[in-house]
Amino acid sequence: MRPRQPASFYIDGIRAGDRLVLSRAITLVESHRPDDQALAQAVLEGVLAFAPTDTIRVGITGVPGVGKSTFIEAFGTYLTGIGKRLAVLAVDPTSQRSGGSILGDKTRMETLSVNPQAYIRPSPAGDSLGGVAHRTRETMLLCEAAGFDTILVETVGVGQSETLVHGMVDFFLLLMLAGAGDELQGMKRGIMELADALAITKADGDNAAAARRARVEYENALHLFPPTPTGWQPPVLTCSALTNAGIADLWATIEQHQVRMTATQRDGVSERTCHRQRQALDWFRTLLRQRIERQFFGQPGLREQVQQLEQQVQAGDLLPTRAVEQLVGKAI
Ligand code: GDP
Repeated sequence: MRPRQPASFYIDGIRAGDRLVLSRAITLVESHRPDDQALAQAVLEGVLAFAPTDTIRVGITGVPGVGKSTFIEAFGTYLTGIGKRLAVLAVDPTSQRSGGSILGDKTRMETLSVNPQAYIRPSPAGDSLGGVAHRTRETMLLCEAAGFDTILVETVGVGQSETLVHGMVDFFLLLMLAGAGDELQGMKRGIMELADALAITKADGDNAAAARRARVEYENALHLFPPTPTGWQPPVLTCSALTNAGIADLWATIEQHQVRMTATQRDGVSERTCHRQRQALDWFRTLLRQRIERQFFGQPGLREQVQQLEQQVQAGDLLPTRAVEQLVGKAI
């Protein structure tokens, strides 16, 4: 085992933009060991002082096969080409089952993974979705403190991961396939409401015409949603990771959105800042709820007590309100 380093080692290394130290700090953040956790908190507090807030965090989602990793490879290469320093992170709810992770596959993002302006961090495997999301927020902070100004957070379009990622980014991009069945589109409706833009992927070759048609269909569908407080109407674009068509337009769209979020003021505070403040508050409240729940249910004998009460409630011998009173009144 490596000798244990003090928090200052990590903080100084991150400030200097040392990727190796950054990676080790992220490993600390992902660790479950209480001593690692304590050190991780000290590192996070330390970097908070100099982590820039004028970064941009973009969430990217879409069903498996939509072309997320190919898109991130093309988009990321474009971004580093215009001088961005890019970090790519993943929130992967499937990692627990497969034992792998979205970005763990070495064949993915080949160009970006050797690009000196980019930093790719695979998703931690074998954890709860909430836990992964929690650590992704902290990882984002560490990357920003290390000088990465543009963060892409990738997530698979299944389950609750989109809502979690939406709650930690400035811009949420939904990738869609042309010609996907009605069923799929229905499933995506809830996610479409979260999106700041839609991009129809693989708009090249024989697929280009279908992508243009899908664009019009989705534009019509999005017009039914109410506009956001800033008046932003999520646009629908088409793009190809093979030809790079539409890649620059997509970045221009994200920049336009940022300009609008920064320019829209509410009581002297920009909508962009308000948005991040709301996210921080939501994060705090989620953590608080989780902590209280864990502490409460972690009390000795509590689970058995709950089971007994549940049986009584089920049998109709006890009112649920009374059962809650008995439990909480006793335990707290
Ligand atoms: P993911 O599961 O969403 O990450 O999707 P992948 O990036 O692995 O892509 C799924 C498949 O679509 C792969 O076979 C890619 O080669 C293909 N693909 C991805 N992007 C494009 C594109 O822009 N054009 C075309 N024609 N194929 C693409």
